[in-house]
Amino acid sequence: MSCVFIISAPSGSGKSTLVRELLRLEPKIDFSVSYTTRQPRGQEVPGESYQYVSRESFMEMLNNDEFLEWAEVFGNFYGTHQSVWLQAQAEGRDLLLDIDVQGEQQLKKKIPDAVSIFVLAPSRAVLEQRLRARSEDAEAVIQRRLAAAANEIRNYHAYDYVIVNDQVSEAVNSLQSVIRAERVRRQRMEDRIRPILETFGELL
Ligand code: ADP
Ligand code: 5GP
Repeated sequence: MSCVFIISAPSGSGKSTLVRELLRLEPKIDFSVSYTTRQPRGQEVPGESYQYVSRESFMEMLNNDEFLEWAEVFGNFYGTHQSVWLQAQAEGRDLLLDIDVQGEQQLKKKIPDAVSIFVLAPSRAVLEQRLRARSEDAEAVIQRRLAAAANEIRNYHAYDYVIVNDQVSEAVNSLQSVIRAERVRRQRMEDRIRPILETFGELL
């Protein structure tokens, strides 16, 4: 049975850094590659970070009901294609989605047992420092992302887990603990338990 993990954070909190490290340590998780109308940034590789599409293509997919969830973030459109979840289910693989708070709300309605994790930088000052350190965004973009962060953080209570990204190694450790614990949640273990109980015939 596949587990769905949603990870959200204000931009610059270090979410991509944590996700990259987690995927290295947990190869059994698929990363959901979203569609976006924004331009590639820095070292981003098309097809790995995102599928980059025009606004026209995105709108066409939206009209064809191809998205599991979608949102407009910082003036660009982002969406998770339905096929991503269908494929993960068919292959019995866990899926990790890096989506915003609007996407989390939509997805929790469609996949109620999805596990959501909110990542926070230790403070606003640290967040600003990280946005600048990344030096991939113009000053106006940094200011817009900082202003948006306050609004996004208000939604933390909708999430199952909160991880403060102070030291990367500790934060990755927490993320890995969440994933490992959720994998053995009783409801997800039924398929494993049944054949074991069958060996004790009289218990059934
Ligand atoms: P996000 O994906 O949340 O927008 P990034 O992963 O791109 O954020 O991180 C923003 C910047 O902060 C990057 O330069 C990254 O190397 C740095 N960073 C991430 N986590 C930490 C941390 N725990 N301590 C110091 N710097 C960090
Ligand atoms: P960035 O442009 O920094 O990569 O992402 C901006 C925001 O869009 C982040 O909060 C990221 O989680 C969110 N995002 C990326 N892909 C999707 C998606 O498919 N759906 C939604 N709802 N948000 C997304």
